[in-house]
Amino acid sequence: MRLYTRGGPATHAPGILEAVETAEPAREHRKVVEELARAAGFELVGVTSAEPLAGGGERLRRWQEAGMAGEMGYMRRPPELLSDPRRLQKSARSVISLGVSYYPGEHPENPGDGGRVARYAWGRDYHRVIKERLFGLRRELEEALGCRIRARAFTDAVPLLERSAAQRAGLGFFGRNSCLINPAMGSYFFIAELLVDLKIEPNLPGEGTCGRCTRCIDRCPTGAIKAPGVVDARLCISYLTIENRGEIPRSLRPLVGDWAFGCDLCQEVCPYNRRKARKSRWPEFSAEAGAGPYLKIAEVLAIRSEEEFERRFAGTPLTRPGRAGLLRNCCVVAGNLRLEEAVPALVGCLREDPSPLVRGHAAWALGEIGGAEEELSGAAHRERDPWCRREMELALSRATVG
Ligand code: SF4
Repeated sequence: MRLYTRGGPATHAPGILEAVETAEPAREHRKVVEELARAAGFELVGVTSAEPLAGGGERLRRWQEAGMAGEMGYMRRPPELLSDPRRLQKSARSVISLGVSYYPGEHPENPGDGGRVARYAWGRDYHRVIKERLFGLRRELEEALGCRIRARAFTDAVPLLERSAAQRAGLGFFGRNSCLINPAMGSYFFIAELLVDLKIEPNLPGEGTCGRCTRCIDRCPTGAIKAPGVVDARLCISYLTIENRGEIPRSLRPLVGDWAFGCDLCQEVCPYNRRKARKSRWPEFSAEAGAGPYLKIAEVLAIRSEEEFERRFAGTPLTRPGRAGLLRNCCVVAGNLRLEEAVPALVGCLREDPSPLVRGHAAWALGEIGGAEEELSGAAHRERDPWCRREMELALSRATVG
């Protein structure tokens, strides 16, 4: 494709064609960016400068100081680093911020034995899918503008405040649930960026308001939304079931409900999503492309090796918590649903799973369901891990009392 080419053919020879430094080309660059990004399937496109994200950095500092980042190492890095796009790419002059809907539709009813999966994870691994398109977009930009572009492509879990960059690029405003909300599309969208050494006219920052609505705060089962826009990750089901590498605290387990991976509750109740969510046009994000809306609890609990786990979930976002993390979550769901048909699989975990994290949560689930006292007692005798043994003893006393 060769659109808006200035000064001859596209070239990869450095220094032959450079972006011109006047306002006109910057404006024209934005038009080209918008057109090509939409053609590549991104519904939302905005541009901001590569200057530090001052407001975002300050919010992050307060959040970190309150200890709300939990164990997310990448979110505990210095705010100066996370809020400065040029720390990622020295030559960056603009951030092209992109949004693509992942909304696959309404969540069907739980068939009764399912672990619920957050909508963004029903399909293929979005990191790979989006990055491929970003690289394609960069190539098309070079061709269209007739200049070599130094660029880096990112989506999620990068050391950059992506949502702050996207807000400044006009993609939306921060909702009370801390999600970026686009007034015309809601918040079910992925954010991605291209950092480029090209001067592009920036968009105005995103604007909007939640008004007096507090539905997300009222709906959150764990009280994780501490103030408008401030989510304590340590209480958030999304964090607890994905990024958290340790146990799910006992007091929070019953509140996890049937969520086996992530949580959509504060987005589901958002009026913008209820009215404006747009179904994704990318087939990669459909339920058919990946794990879909529910995991069969008993099946997941039977996965005993990393190889088997990879075979089952490779190429989907569900690999993120690792085998032990996903089985931990499924144990909690089994306990919350009092899922009797999962008892043989839970007993299997108790007897032979190599991970103490899984054995301990399996014990908790069996304690909630009841009827496995003999197994729990035998396991508690054999167990060498002190945390795990304690879980088994507590489960035994719960099962006996219950
Ligand atoms: Fe609360 Fe779930 Fe939203 Fe986390 S994702 S803040 S747990 S409603």
